[in-house]
Amino acid sequence: MLDLDINICSAINEEMENNFYSISPVIAQTSNFSFKNYDDFLKACEDEKNSYMYTRGSNPTTKMLEKKIAQLEKGERCKVFSSGMGAISSTLFSLVKRGEHILVLNTIYGQALTFIKYLEKFGVSYSNIKIDEFTDIRNFIKENTKLIYMESPSSQHMELLDIEKITKIAKDKKILTVIDNTWATPIFQKPLEYGVDIVIHSCSKYIGGNSDVVAGAVISKDEIIQNIFEYGHQCLGATNAPFNSWLLIRSLRTLPMRMNFHSESVKRIIDFLDSDIRIKKVYHPYSKNEYQNKLAKKYLKGYGSLLAFELCDETFENIKTFVNTLKCFKIGVSWGGHESLILPAFKGNNSESLIQRGISKSHIRIYIGLEATESLIQDLKSALDKAFNI
Ligand SMILES: *Cc1c(COP(=O)(O)O)cnc(C)c1O
Repeated sequence: MLDLDINICSAINEEMENNFYSISPVIAQTSNFSFKNYDDFLKACEDEKNSYMYTRGSNPTTKMLEKKIAQLEKGERCKVFSSGMGAISSTLFSLVKRGEHILVLNTIYGQALTFIKYLEKFGVSYSNIKIDEFTDIRNFIKENTKLIYMESPSSQHMELLDIEKITKIAKDKKILTVIDNTWATPIFQKPLEYGVDIVIHSCSKYIGGNSDVVAGAVISKDEIIQNIFEYGHQCLGATNAPFNSWLLIRSLRTLPMRMNFHSESVKRIIDFLDSDIRIKKVYHPYSKNEYQNKLAKKYLKGYGSLLAFELCDETFENIKTFVNTLKCFKIGVSWGGHESLILPAFKGNNSESLIQRGISKSHIRIYIGLEATESLIQDLKSALDKAFNI
């Protein structure tokens, strides 16, 4: 963990003298701003991105958050949105046009893929390819490929991509690269250092960290963020509320420490799962897989605590018993907060769609929260004992 990151995450208000020397930043809970005189107003109109006029555009509390996230990702500029999907849709809306093609690598967040598919309505095509260490992505790049969209590690099978290998090819062909870095957070992975053009976060997960905010962020060069601000942000209007920006500034204070805890905890959980005969396979970059371990060593400073595993038994009743017996793991979507969560892929009636997506019926996603690791291991063990008595 870098001391620098801890300093950036600290909540001390940069403009303390203007804010009563408050330790927790003052919230600018306002929709609009007024001007001392008409000349000042005219000046603000010329550069709305850098002025405070109306909160759909810019707001000082949101700006403070944006500065911190940009610094954490080592990017020039950040724009915050009212959800991760707000950030994703605004970015793609701003950067691609009719006749262009998006190349999607491996599995990405489901709703993001739905949006990319929906862009076909506006004449934007896409292909979604599965790649591994032997794939040459040049074979899938088309004349009109404008952008490569990836998630690494992905939040389905947690597989890492060789980011630098991809960005080198993309740069050569003047293709923009976008990465969803939600799983690793900027504490553990800084994709801009490996040549990625645009980093996206769902701040609803680790950055929020308390299961009480939905928000998103995009980090890139000033010029690209300006474009996304003018069109995606201003026209689609997924503006983050000042209070939610304030909550996220609060959450950043503890992000490095929380991530460190998650990382240590998930390693112990995986050691347990890897050694249990009822677990067939674990999906996580720390688990046994030479290629993934190699990529993790290169790209990750620590581990996110979202993982998946396959059970040795796909009987629906047994899966249900397993989930219902757990006490520490709550059944629920999303992740990144204090509570550990569980989400089986099999709902009893969705075998067809699982086969199509290449997911086994015994596929279970779990999120390791901030509870004592030993209690979580005991909880998993008891539930496995009860459901799969072999
Ligand atoms: C949750 C999530 C999103 C979408 O973010 P919202 O804040 O829910 O809109 C995008 N990507 C990943 C990896 C996510 O986990």
